[in-house]
Amino acid sequence: MLNSSLKQLSALLAAKKISSTELTGEFLRRSRALNPDYNAFISINEEASLAQAGAADRIIASGCAQPLTGIPVAQKDIFCTRGWRTTCGSRMLSNFISPYDANVVERFNAAGAVNIGKTNMDEFAMGSSNETSFYGPVKNPWDVTAVPGGSSGGSACAVAARMTPAATGTDTGGSIRQPAALCGISGMKPTYGLVSRYGMVAFASSLDQAGPMAKSAEDLALMLNVMAKFDARDSTSLEREPEDYTRDLDKPLEGLCIGLPKEYFVSEISEDVARAVEAAIAEYRKLGAKTVEVSLPNTKLSVPVYYVLAPAEASSNLSRFDGVRYGYRAPQYDGLADMYRKSRAQGFGAEVKRRILIGTYVLSHGYYDAYYLQAQKLRRLIAQDFAEVFTHCDVIMGPTSPTVAFDLGEKSSDPVQMYLSDAYTIAVNLAGLPGMSIPVGFGNKNRPVGLHIVGNYFTEAQMLNVAHQYQLATGWHLQIPVNRKSQTGLEPKNAERF
Ligand code: GLN
Repeated sequence: MLNSSLKQLSALLAAKKISSTELTGEFLRRSRALNPDYNAFISINEEASLAQAGAADRIIASGCAQPLTGIPVAQKDIFCTRGWRTTCGSRMLSNFISPYDANVVERFNAAGAVNIGKTNMDEFAMGSSNETSFYGPVKNPWDVTAVPGGSSGGSACAVAARMTPAATGTDTGGSIRQPAALCGISGMKPTYGLVSRYGMVAFASSLDQAGPMAKSAEDLALMLNVMAKFDARDSTSLEREPEDYTRDLDKPLEGLCIGLPKEYFVSEISEDVARAVEAAIAEYRKLGAKTVEVSLPNTKLSVPVYYVLAPAEASSNLSRFDGVRYGYRAPQYDGLADMYRKSRAQGFGAEVKRRILIGTYVLSHGYYDAYYLQAQKLRRLIAQDFAEVFTHCDVIMGPTSPTVAFDLGEKSSDPVQMYLSDAYTIAVNLAGLPGMSIPVGFGNKNRPVGLHIVGNYFTEAQMLNVAHQYQLATGWHLQIPVNRKSQTGLEPKNAERF
């Protein structure tokens, strides 16, 4: 059961081999057992999850099940979830019980999926290691001395450790793909605007995009079918005909043209990662694809451009947290201005404050032209690089992250080193393109390596096909990290049944 695909779980539910209540119960038990080791969940609410599972069982019994009805899905704690605490990894929202659901949560509820818990994350999605969470770092299930990546590290860990069959994430500069790579799972950031941002706590609105995280590309496709839909409440939501993202999964890859940017295979990439990525590309050649060298000359500008634009947007978005209507309020203060000051000083962590300071600086009078405006122009050049490359290849491939998971604490005192771990993912957000990561082997210390696949706008179905064909031919996505507890009887007793 732990390795069953969403389709297999759905078939078991339809055949009444298991009920959603039993399935949810098994994953809840496993999550409870493993969470003290991994800290993947901020909130688990058995009662609420089992009530949803019971409702799903009634839908299944009535014959009205959809593909995800009755299947547990964890929600990143950035998505407002009615009746649940939604913290965004921050002390600022530690007391916030959302009165409404984010669009993503609504969509999964409407599909009959079961919310199995809210996953840990870097504070306000700012980070690449999950160490900025107010609720403590998440551990990498492959090695608990390593980070899981960030900011959707809780979701990546929960899927990798099989505490949930699937989870949601958000990606502003790499936060779905980088933790997916570091934890050995599959994750996709769709084209900007495909999934509504309504009810998703805003970090950098022109870059933020929600997406699915799961074991396989096939599972991602089923989740994207649920998540991608026009929503008038998000002004950047795209009004498009709904697509079936599973439609191309089985197409052969004969004739596929893969672009390999020469800037991606440079000295910054560690040898173990390069080896696994090259082996994956060799596998693609065996599957009938051809490769061409391409160039993205402005790639090197993406990290500096991002660290002007994202903090600028964050400084504006986070100004709403003032301790007045909701969120954290300092217990003692002297007047209104002091209440704002103390609430923000105590409610935000160091990385969030750093970003607010940078953002306020680059937007301030006298510096706006030199930084913000300049960065916007470079953003355009970065997008043009991709447009040019996609005139002569179908997808781009490279490493998702320059290294495998690093040790906890290794980069936390050096923000620039931390920022560079998103060197390959950030440009994709700046251009608004879809990107994904799939597991393609292991590197140093037996830690997972991810392959980054980038496609042109709205080519998600093709990218999922490209990833699925690789997963049919290889078994990296089915590897499960071993937990001491899972070897001592905490595995679901009836695992064989499934
Ligand atoms: N690691 C990047 C940052 O810290 C990206 C985060 C994200 O995608 N949410 O901003």
